[in-house]
Amino acid sequence: MAMRLKRHVSLFESSIRRATVPTVANSLCTRCRRYASSAAYPENIAVLGGGISGLASAYFVAQEFPRSKITIYEAEKQLGGWIRSQRIPVPGGDVLFEHGPRTLRPGRDSLVTQKLIQELDLVGDVLATPKKAPGAANRYVYYPDRLNLMPGPGARPSYFDLAKSGVFAGWHNILAEPFQSRRDGSIRDESVGSFLSRRVDKRIAQNLVSAIFHGIYAGDVWKLSAKTLLGTAWQLEMKGNSVWDGWMNIQGTNGKGTDTLISPHHLDVRARVNQEIKVDSALSDALRDCSVFTFKNGLQQLVDALSQCLKTYSQIEVKLGTPVESYNLLSNGEKQVEVTTKDGKPQNYDLVISTLRAPALTPYVTVMTVNLYYSTPNLNPVKGFGYLIPQGVPFEQNPERALGVTFDSDAVQGQDSAPGTKLTVMLGGHWWDEWDTYPDSQEGLELAKSLVKRHLGITEEPTRSNVGVWKDCIPQYTVGYEDRLRDYVEKTKNQFGGRVKLVGNQYNGVAVNNCIEQAWMMARGLRHNGWKEKATGLESRVVDEPWSIIPVNQP
Ligand SMILES: Cc1cc2nc3c(=O)[nH]c(=O)nc-3n(C[C@H](O)[C@H](O)[C@H](O)COP(=O)(O)OP(=O)(O)OC[C@H]3O[C@@H](n4cnc5c(N)ncnc54)[C@H](O)[C@@H]3O)c2cc1C
Repeated sequence: MAMRLKRHVSLFESSIRRATVPTVANSLCTRCRRYASSAAYPENIAVLGGGISGLASAYFVAQEFPRSKITIYEAEKQLGGWIRSQRIPVPGGDVLFEHGPRTLRPGRDSLVTQKLIQELDLVGDVLATPKKAPGAANRYVYYPDRLNLMPGPGARPSYFDLAKSGVFAGWHNILAEPFQSRRDGSIRDESVGSFLSRRVDKRIAQNLVSAIFHGIYAGDVWKLSAKTLLGTAWQLEMKGNSVWDGWMNIQGTNGKGTDTLISPHHLDVRARVNQEIKVDSALSDALRDCSVFTFKNGLQQLVDALSQCLKTYSQIEVKLGTPVESYNLLSNGEKQVEVTTKDGKPQNYDLVISTLRAPALTPYVTVMTVNLYYSTPNLNPVKGFGYLIPQGVPFEQNPERALGVTFDSDAVQGQDSAPGTKLTVMLGGHWWDEWDTYPDSQEGLELAKSLVKRHLGITEEPTRSNVGVWKDCIPQYTVGYEDRLRDYVEKTKNQFGGRVKLVGNQYNGVAVNNCIEQAWMMARGLRHNGWKEKATGLESRVVDEPWSIIPVNQP
């Protein structure tokens, strides 16, 4: 352990050296350096929130500014935010329960995460589930009263059964999409449900698509924004007379096969990632052809390695159990931000990175997770990643108001030392909007047991279980989000003169990969005096420019 820690630290320090020599030192001549050093980098930086966004921000900012003193403020007694993995002793060994996120997706969005995994020396602990393994390939949607295997790589559904269940009802109307007139140009946004109803068929929104959105956002397709979450289709509609027509119109633009649209922000991220992120073959080989990945000790292992690494770096201080109450720009001409905590003396910082929630921007939903472990293996009637429950399922089939169930013992192999069946039931989300109180642990367990009995036929008592209610845990990118974000960025920029940068799951996607990528983008934006600019770090996200046309396969 000690050796490993030492290696973390030396890797971190050498990456800091690599990153800073050309940026800070070389950019200033010796004479200037003597006088300008205090202004060449922010001497004191505060990171508000110690979830994955805050930890990754501190890590990447320390690489940019190794001489800055960085203070991480975390309200809770532990770091990691929603990432919480726990080892539970069971007869014959132990099993890992994930209370929050459980897996990450490989692919382009994960490249910065992969860089982090390499630098933290976690490559040997990565557990990747191959795309063709049943635990990845078999994904189900429960509709109206049964599990339906979805088509996809490695899955062999019965199309007859799928047609009979009605889960794909309305899809044939996709053929009529080119004949539906395009939206009025004055419409600034609409819900995912409304967009799909207008373009194709309401049943698609209610059934299949709502199931997917339950899996990612625990959200309501009739509230979530089509402009934000179905961005490409939303843009294509205005490139022609329909989405299909828009798609056809952009083809041939690059003369390199099929073309697609990309937002200015994603184009920017892609260019910078391509330029700077190099992933070793050991890791890229491990993740090739995998569907999801995690670590031997769960996602907590990423948080633990990151926090260990940060704690051993003398310039970084972590303040646990220290909720930030407010932060304000000082009017002392220094352009400093004063951070006030509940019971401490206010502290001044040259730069603040806030990962705190922004309720003015996004409402949040509350989710309950119920981890169930049965010592009997193979209790599930099918093998797979799990199943999602659409909004269109009749009430009597989902009175518990569940969102879905993951088959953890199939989806990730290699975390548990005892055999058995492991499931997680997710309940609540938008179904619990406006609720004043939520089910307690005992009620939650009963709800989960009644659900798996009806849906999976599991009647056995779980050997171990854990119930968690995660209040306001997932931000909802609801209709009008893009306009609200633009106003929020503008307001924050003006209020703090650019000395507050914004990172977190309410800006660029809720996945852990999105949070890490954003932290990296923010940190590299501080280079070359970028930290002094009147900007929040989200400017490319709200820029009002047309989307670009690029080949689908462009790296
Ligand atoms: C149940 C669940 C399942 C999920 N599943 C997945 C998944 O499988 N894969 C995936 O990629 N993503 C998943 N996600 C999403 C992902 O986990 C989160 O979006 C991500 O972890 C958010 O990280 P964050 O640092 O932005 O925010 P948070 O994790 O919320 O961290 C913010 C931190 O700030 C602290 N804080 C709050 N207020 C203050 C204050 N005033 N002062 C100081 N500190 C404060 C909090 O205590 C917290 O530690 C899931 C989320 C949930 C809830």
